[in-house]
Amino acid sequence: METLGYAAMDEKGHTEPYRFNRRALRKDDIAIDIKYCGVCHSDLHQARSDWSGSVYPVVPGHEIVGIVSAVGDDVSDFSIGDKVAVGCMVDSCLSCSPCKTGEEQFCAEGATLTYNSPDRETGENTLGGYSNKIVVRKNFVLRVPEGLDLARTGPILCAGITTYSPLKKWNISKGSKVGVVGLGGLGHMAVKLAVGMGAEVTVISRSRKKEEDALKLGAKRVVVSTDQESMSEAQGSLEFILDTVPVAHPIDNYLSLLSIDGSFVIVGAIDDIPAFHSINLLLGRKRVSGSIIGGIAETQELLDLCAEKSIYPECEMIKIQDINQAFERMEKGDVKYRFVIDMSSLE
Ligand code: NAP
Ligand code: ZN
Repeated sequence: METLGYAAMDEKGHTEPYRFNRRALRKDDIAIDIKYCGVCHSDLHQARSDWSGSVYPVVPGHEIVGIVSAVGDDVSDFSIGDKVAVGCMVDSCLSCSPCKTGEEQFCAEGATLTYNSPDRETGENTLGGYSNKIVVRKNFVLRVPEGLDLARTGPILCAGITTYSPLKKWNISKGSKVGVVGLGGLGHMAVKLAVGMGAEVTVISRSRKKEEDALKLGAKRVVVSTDQESMSEAQGSLEFILDTVPVAHPIDNYLSLLSIDGSFVIVGAIDDIPAFHSINLLLGRKRVSGSIIGGIAETQELLDLCAEKSIYPECEMIKIQDINQAFERMEKGDVKYRFVIDMSSLE
């Protein structure tokens, strides 16, 4: 299936138009005409091989929304014309214990990611959503609920689920004191979702520039991580902190914000954490943890929840021709709060 997309050709991470073929439909495959795709900081990391091992060309994009254009012989639960979405995974073994319990992200064989990951049958590198078509195994295709605006659905598929999953796992509920480090794509969804769960949310940002936005999103206050006085005032005040910062950084200062038995959960930087002193954990029985995306059923649950409660990402719509500039702006923290590519610009 002839497909047009944008790909990074080398570690410079600059993307350019790229033509390729999607596979012919397997029995349990669904073909999707992509309408929108969100721009995640992981797209930039992988376009530049920040995590090493990127296989070029890299077609990024794992916040995919579109319309079913064809279905394989064994697909009866999706039809042509259905509104669907695809997140960070497109396949897994489906038979190991994590897969069976709906945590395909922890598949014992390793989940197949939407891009830059070997296809389970052919070994070919998967190519993502910065393109006009995609073919995905039906088990990894999500339904966009009636009433959810397609143009603003994409970021739920990664920024949304990556923050929703740990908030749920840590039983965030009414009155929970939650901190969110970094007000970007993931961070702003974390604020909206935690506020929706009834939590009292503190945004921990590098400056006060985003304070007004943070309060509008429902946060109660902003703590400035570069201002020791602001950090000291907030010491011991948070039960749970979600760290979305995209680069390696020291965490001792953030640990001091936790109350007794508090948890610091890393979802941002996939990188070395600079050494931190154990006393920052011992004093207060604190925990450092991590979390990665979420399972397929949980992602569907989140889509349904966002439709029911009208929870939407804050999106800035762009043309695909502006993607390189969008990467630059994202790196500078200059996005409110997620770029979404309107794929009609690719024609
Ligand atoms: P983003 O939109 O660029 O937001 C990151 C935010 O972190 C920025 O808005 C900024 O907030 C803060 N920040 C940026 N550079 C910083 C620096 N040098 N030092 C301190 N703070 C900094 O990125 P995103 O799309 O939310 O992704 C964040 C990270 O999560 C990326 O590394 C991405 O790869 C990773 N990720 C992980 C998962 C997972 O499953 N675990 C899923 C998706 C993405 P302030 O201006 O408020 O300081
Ligand atoms: Zn992502």
